[in-house]
Amino acid sequence: MLTGKIALVTGAGRGIGLGIAKALADEGAFVILNYNGSKERAMAAAAEIGGVAYGCNVADYEACGQMIGTIVKTYGRLDILVNNAGITRDGLIMKMGEADFDDVIATNLKGTFHTIRHASRWFLKQRSGRIINISSVSGLMGNAGQANYSASKAGVIGLTKSVARELASRGVTCNAIAPGYIETEMTDAMADAAKEAVLSQIPLKRTGTVADVAGLAVFLASDAASYITGQVIAVDGGMSM
Ligand code: NDP
Repeated sequence: MLTGKIALVTGAGRGIGLGIAKALADEGAFVILNYNGSKERAMAAAAEIGGVAYGCNVADYEACGQMIGTIVKTYGRLDILVNNAGITRDGLIMKMGEADFDDVIATNLKGTFHTIRHASRWFLKQRSGRIINISSVSGLMGNAGQANYSASKAGVIGLTKSVARELASRGVTCNAIAPGYIETEMTDAMADAAKEAVLSQIPLKRTGTVADVAGLAVFLASDAASYITGQVIAVDGGMSM
């Protein structure tokens, strides 16, 4: 379904990014797995799925430019960009340090801007491209203790819709996925009481898996989704409805 497509997934060494990278590769795409700290895991995953690993901190504007430039120079094109890299620095607003706010915005929101900014000229030139941004239900609903994270993920939604409007006339789509509670190292870090509280808010009465999110990413990258742009699709067991 995605044979011959070149895909870049940020934060693909582990978690949801890794699941998306594997799912895209399963459908025939050649995947560049971006990583920041997880070099060994990204390289092992790249070897497993026949892709390549590329180290780059998405919070670094110039480094993102080099990454996109290298991909286009090496493979001649870029078809699918998945902005998945993200961090949390949770804390109540009254106690939240400025660095905790800035770091989360720099990775989650600016990082997404950086790759889109550099990739957009190639997408426009090619007159095709799929941008898939990983937002969060926290960006839709807000979440106590996550003012920084929710702001970054709500920002990703505004960015997604504006980019979708700008690039639509050239056949480029831009959509956001808003996962709910997905089992990864990010949610492993939550206290048991907090996990129970979230679970009670999920109509489907189960936590989500990486595969739940990856399946939607593959669909949004496929021809079947060519008439879908500017949308935010929740994968959350009904939590945000
Ligand atoms: P993990 O904490 O398991 O993984 C985070 C990923 O982001 C890692 O691959 C990490 O790479 C990468 N990353 C972090 N900072 C950077 C950076 N500066 N540059 C490049 N890569 C970076 O998180 P999840 O897999 O759970 O989350 C993935 C995405 O999904 C995030 O955007 C998150 O906000 C979002 N999300 C997750 C939910 C969940 O319940 N798990 C719910 C809603 C949204 P490395 O290890 O190489 O540093």
